[in-house]
Amino acid sequence: MKPKQLVLIGGGHAHMVTLANLASFTRKGYRVVVIQPSDYHYYSGMGPGMLGGTYQPEEIRFHTRFIVESQGGEFIRDKALSIDPVRQQVNLEAGSKPVRYDVLSCNAGSSVPDLSGSNQKTTFSAKPIERLNQARQIILDTGRNQQMAIAIVGGGPSAVEIAGNIWQLTTKLTHPPKITVFTGTKLMNNHPERIRVMIRKILSQRGIMFVEGSYVDSLNGGEIYLKAGRRFKADLSFSAVGVKPSPIFSRSGLPTGPDGGLLVNKYLQSTAQANIFGGGDCISFQPQPLDKVGVYAVRQNPVLFHNLMASMDEETLQVFSPGGAYLRIYNLGGMQGVFSKGPFMFSGRFAFWIKDYIDRKFIRSFTMNE
Ligand SMILES: Cc1cc2nc3c(=O)[nH]c(=O)nc-3n(C[C@H](O)[C@H](O)[C@H](O)COP(=O)(O)OP(=O)(O)OC[C@H]3O[C@@H](n4cnc5c(N)ncnc54)[C@H](O)[C@@H]3O)c2cc1C
Repeated sequence: MKPKQLVLIGGGHAHMVTLANLASFTRKGYRVVVIQPSDYHYYSGMGPGMLGGTYQPEEIRFHTRFIVESQGGEFIRDKALSIDPVRQQVNLEAGSKPVRYDVLSCNAGSSVPDLSGSNQKTTFSAKPIERLNQARQIILDTGRNQQMAIAIVGGGPSAVEIAGNIWQLTTKLTHPPKITVFTGTKLMNNHPERIRVMIRKILSQRGIMFVEGSYVDSLNGGEIYLKAGRRFKADLSFSAVGVKPSPIFSRSGLPTGPDGGLLVNKYLQSTAQANIFGGGDCISFQPQPLDKVGVYAVRQNPVLFHNLMASMDEETLQVFSPGGAYLRIYNLGGMQGVFSKGPFMFSGRFAFWIKDYIDRKFIRSFTMNE
């Protein structure tokens, strides 16, 4: 008889504890296979800091392949295309052979809608995080010789973090760029007024401009077209218009929530398939909607790990409780942060320092010595 096989799609934030404890599966004689398009997983919380030059790419990533293989698991560098719950297998984008599973866990994250049309070279998205490093290089190379117009489309946390960190990256260039944030609604629309004021003040003092109240229709040929009909020039643009869960589940005919994420119950288990689990941005949590923030992916870790083991062992599942208010700190570049938790809100270096401390600690706690 073939040994039981656990398959993980994506080594994202919700799989960190499972990946760190992979050996506890292989020691029991279970096979573990991890599918991910890159050998590394990048930590999004530090992505804008990498764009701004505060962190090097090596400081903000996990070597997923090494973590898996050093504990006796198999790593497949590929993208999961769809899931066949009847045959219990995952179809891959490049690989011709599907991957069989007894238990499957999905942590394939989300992506930012692409507004670029065909102009991939001068248009970037807030995700995947690793591409922000290419953007950094282009900004530095071009900005030495000419003044660029850089557009950031979107008015939420990743848009303001990208704008602030591009400013940090370019302050010492001979020709610093013109940075404009295009936001369909107000800047940081769903956030408390005090947070909005703090962020706007920090960014405006640096000369960053805002075009508010009209959605961007498309980015093409170095131009930005607004739905309201206006046009702007942009040498480089970033789409940070919010995220959508991975399309794997809708393609597979599995039940999904209103946002297209895998619909899971209080055990982080598919509402239709008892041997499929998930966490992070790619799920839609049936008991209550959850913000697409890394905090929930991190909180789901221990329950997901427990439930995957329990499902392999045919033991009792644990309930995931999302918990209360969570801490948000925005890295606006120039060592400036904005801190918000419940009624506590402040900005400045100390806020940045707390975020930097938490983020570095998170990376350290899931890094394995090679
Ligand atoms: C710029 C930016 C900054 C952010 N800052 C913060 C912050 O400071 N704090 C916070 O709480 N949240 C932050 N967020 C939100 C946070 O990034 C997400 O909520 C978090 O990344 C979700 O984690 P995840 O593991 O579900 O997804 P991801 O981090 O996207 O990880 C998914 C993994 O799955 C892999 N994958 C993708 N598709 C497939 C596939 N088809 N098959 C196999 N593998 C696949 C990817 O390569 C990746 O390794 C930020 C988001 C952005 C864009």
